[in-house]
Amino acid sequence: MNRDSTYDIHLDSLHNTLRIGHEGYLAILEIARKHAVCSRCYEPYGEDNPMIAGTECLSCFQKREKLTYLGVIPNDDSGYSGSQSAYNPFPVVLHLHMKEADGWLYETNAGPGQSRDATRENVRTLRYWGYPVPQKAQLNNKEVSTKNTYWSVNGDVRTDDVLMLEHGSRAYSNEILFLVQRNGQLVQINRRKAAHRQLLEVAGQELEKYRDARGKYTLWGEQREGILDGDIYRIAASLAQEHHIFTPMADIIQPTLEQAS
Ligand SMILES: [Zn+2]
Repeated sequence: MNRDSTYDIHLDSLHNTLRIGHEGYLAILEIARKHAVCSRCYEPYGEDNPMIAGTECLSCFQKREKLTYLGVIPNDDSGYSGSQSAYNPFPVVLHLHMKEADGWLYETNAGPGQSRDATRENVRTLRYWGYPVPQKAQLNNKEVSTKNTYWSVNGDVRTDDVLMLEHGSRAYSNEILFLVQRNGQLVQINRRKAAHRQLLEVAGQELEKYRDARGKYTLWGEQREGILDGDIYRIAASLAQEHHIFTPMADIIQPTLEQAS
């Protein structure tokens, strides 16, 4: 028997190492799959209570996180290229969850050695709610890929039909902004275009309506000391929605906003 077909196993303690042959290892994998229990409640997994985050079961996970379970993410969709080795009795399975309070999706990885933490998924969230996701953008006169970009989403993915996606910042001259329309189009905001600049200016003026005498803002049910660029972008998105100004932006935004004011 050569070394490659033998495996170290640990029984009871990590220090108790045994080296066993290939067939023995396969038999142990079978036993482990059949008899594994949740690392938190020590109950066996079941079809309605699968391993969901690390080795925690769905029921234990939901006691920690207020998320609604949506189901398994199919393999071909995951992009996951981690180790699915013969050593692992449980290949990693990705699961999808939703936070009902804001409609955002979260992902967990089930399997030994995987984290129990849920990751907030912006691209899956946008796709789930029917928004297009920008694949490329213009940044400082160059085309850049935005496939793996983490977007700040300005707007409510559940109830708004137009959102403003934001990445980077104006301060670092690397800001990218997109207006995206549910089941529709997307357009990158370009401050050099008069119509786009005007949309942001009108949004900035609108925002002042939410300021009280003490200079505090009440926005989307929250009291705020100050405002962020994202607040202007969210208002810009709702203006775009309200005035049906989408495509072609450059031709339509300006006259529509002029009529509105
Ligand atoms: Zn459990």
